[in-house]
Amino acid sequence: MSNLVEGRTGEWEVVIGLEVHAQVSTSAKLFSGAPTAFGADPNANVSLVDAAMPGMLPVINQECVRQAIRTGLGLNAEINLFSVFDRKNYFYADLPQGYQISQLYHPIVGEGQLLIEADEKAGIPEDKVIGIERIHVEQDAGKLMHDQHPTMSYVDLNRSGVALMEIVSKPDIRSPEEASAYVSKLRTILRYLGTCGGDMEKGQLRADVNVSVCKPGAYEKFRETGDFKHLGTRCEIKNVNSLRFIMQAIEYEAQRQVDILEEGGTIDQETRLFDANAGVTRSMRSKEEAHDYRYFPDPDLLPLVLEDSFIADLKANLPELPAEKRKRFVEELGLSEYDASVLAADKDRADYFEKVLEGRDPKLAANWVNNELFGRLNKEGLGITESPVSPEQLGGIVSLIMDKTISGKIAKDVFEIVWAEGGDPAQIVEDRGMKQVTDTGAIEKVIDDLIAANPEQAEKVKEKPKTMGWFVGQVMKEMGGKANPQAVNEILAKKLLG
Ligand code: ADP
Ligand code: MG
Repeated sequence: MSNLVEGRTGEWEVVIGLEVHAQVSTSAKLFSGAPTAFGADPNANVSLVDAAMPGMLPVINQECVRQAIRTGLGLNAEINLFSVFDRKNYFYADLPQGYQISQLYHPIVGEGQLLIEADEKAGIPEDKVIGIERIHVEQDAGKLMHDQHPTMSYVDLNRSGVALMEIVSKPDIRSPEEASAYVSKLRTILRYLGTCGGDMEKGQLRADVNVSVCKPGAYEKFRETGDFKHLGTRCEIKNVNSLRFIMQAIEYEAQRQVDILEEGGTIDQETRLFDANAGVTRSMRSKEEAHDYRYFPDPDLLPLVLEDSFIADLKANLPELPAEKRKRFVEELGLSEYDASVLAADKDRADYFEKVLEGRDPKLAANWVNNELFGRLNKEGLGITESPVSPEQLGGIVSLIMDKTISGKIAKDVFEIVWAEGGDPAQIVEDRGMKQVTDTGAIEKVIDDLIAANPEQAEKVKEKPKTMGWFVGQVMKEMGGKANPQAVNEILAKKLLG
């Protein structure tokens, strides 16, 4: 689907805004010293503050503040020197405080932007900048478990009080493909910055997806005037936790809204859930039932006032981000745009490549990582961090090619051995006699014998030099693929063509 949705009477366009909740990478929670480690026993990571015992007071974790600012800087956003924590009041069994500490009126980060890159195959025809409205910091809630006991529900407060960043986009996203590309790029940047692990399966990243539809032309009017009245009424799909589900939810929801409007109905602004099994969205609550959160500044916390120098220092120490890395790979290493973008698109891949690169030929290293390694990993359905061949081992193979110890062809055999059995490539080549033969005397002898045994074939080469390839193949076969290809070609040319 593009941004168009087919209705009975004509075409509609979809408009999307995402609120992404990203768990801040810190070892302690936002307002307590309890650990945030994943996979702990239920209620093992809970301090008295997280359990909201009477008289407990929150103390802001500076590391969470640093990470939120670094995220803002990585998204070219305005950092607000003054921000305030507000109480968002509601009752739920996984929220012992009876309110969530969040930031409504004065978020820590203001407007920023994120570039999604053209990717024809992924349905993104050209580069596009998506506006970011704001980023605020807030607490996560606990988790109810309904499947542990026949008549009771349990509560696990390990997540209670963990720091989240809510990253709110402008309604600049215009198709399911763009939504997926936006979240994917956002995740890459967060991972490069080290501010969020980005693992959607562990709940480190989840999205509330706002969807509306409008007639062609209306969105342009909204952009000109900034007036939301030109857009359709939106529905918000809560807590979607995979790129595929985000796309499916948008597709379903846009069509649902078009169908209602085409029947002469109206869209109620409501909160919906995506049912991944059925592939549909379902109503959770409507605007009329929507909570009145009675936001007010948390009296237990002072406003957060930052110094310019604090931010300047964080800015000066930001790591290289994907766009910069890609540019450097092209300009300084001479890689193709394609190779550079594949390698820079993921932090783990980039890290792997840079280890293979150390002191080696960039193009050769890129080729081995992008083609041989990724090809093999894809075939086995493995991610780069699960590679049985370490960057040191792959680097060792590349070194052996560079110093002509082995040919590219033998290198593939070495790669297979390392993949299956592990070990040091140089040692494997040594032990198994895989070294390339560059001894021209040995190659010459094989060639002389072959020419003597195949005089007709040799005559043919004189008329048609292209047929020399047959001899190259024979020499290689004779020498178990270990002859230096360049030497073989040179000697053959000398002997057959003079
Ligand atoms: P709330 O905090 O109540 O959810 P916001 O105004 O902060 O409301 O908007 C939340 C998200 O909804 C933002 O990402 C915004 O871009 C998006 N949004 C707002 N209006 C629309 C619309 N008409 N269609 C699609 N998305 C929208
Ligand atoms: Mg919302």
